Amino acid sequence: MSEKLKLALYWAASCGGCEIAVLEINEKILDVDAAADILFWPVAVDTKYDDVRRLPDGHIDVCLFNGGIRTSEQEELAHLLRRKSKVLVAFGSCAQEGCIPGLANLYSRQSLLERVYHTTESTDNPEKVLPQVRTQVPEGEIEIPEFYDTVLALDDVVPVEYYVPGCPPQPHQIWNVIQAIVAGNLPKPPAIVGAGDKTCCDDCERKKSEKKVKRFYRPFEKVPEPEVCLLEQGFLCAGPATRSGCGNALCVKANMPCRGCYGPPPGVVDQGAKFLSAVASVIDSNDPDEIAQIVGTISDPAGTFYRFSLSKSLLRRAKV
Ligand code: SF4
Repeated sequence: MSEKLKLALYWAASCGGCEIAVLEINEKILDVDAAADILFWPVAVDTKYDDVRRLPDGHIDVCLFNGGIRTSEQEELAHLLRRKSKVLVAFGSCAQEGCIPGLANLYSRQSLLERVYHTTESTDNPEKVLPQVRTQVPEGEIEIPEFYDTVLALDDVVPVEYYVPGCPPQPHQIWNVIQAIVAGNLPKPPAIVGAGDKTCCDDCERKKSEKKVKRFYRPFEKVPEPEVCLLEQGFLCAGPATRSGCGNALCVKANMPCRGCYGPPPGVVDQGAKFLSAVASVIDSNDPDEIAQIVGTISDPAGTFYRFSLSKSLLRRAKV
């Protein structure tokens, strides 16, 4: 009998939804168990970092690494798992492009810490204490990970063979990727796997015609027509700037605009710039004042256009 595949999974700067998504392959997790030994998966298996440190280099066949790099602990684990794994996969949008945690790059580390530890409405911290990397206590010195100024994608820190997009990756795509891993059918790296090679609009079945928009809407402001392109109706749908593969425009099928979680489509370097350009092209006016008024109906532009991709955008972070 051939030896079982050796897998590892790790959760860095992310919400953990990617880990839940792995379990959403449901009973197929039993097939994973039959084909692979999971050597490291902190959320589900009680292994320690030292267990990984003791493994020979390259011992793990495939590591699915979800989450960006926000702390010194996450960076250390990225290097460790890179060294111990033959194949490292940036699993999900946070590892691939920073995702929602990457929006913290609009602020400085200091302003984030001050907001969280000093000025939130529920905080009671009269001495203005902030977390310190090293603290002396009667029992000795304790150390917590350093909180970095900038959220990085995994491949900003270590080389990566494959990227699985999605916030989170969809179960059918996770299963496709696992099957490809087990069968040794992965494409030549580096490559995006578990996704399509078109845009979300290409997969979308809504009626598309000329787009002329006089104001933009957030989803709660109006109930969309169920069969007409959402962007035509003034909803900020990221379909033109988003890779296909989630399941035929999954959010759009539920009458919600695509948020862009599958990242930029092939050939697009900056997803936010592409989305911005698509939105600019539908504004129905040549009058600068009216254009400003229409653009003014877009709330949170940075969070809308760069919701998932700020860390890997051309801008990367705000200068603060
Ligand atoms: Fe579909 Fe959105 Fe593209 Fe319109 S913009 S075609 S609703 S994915």
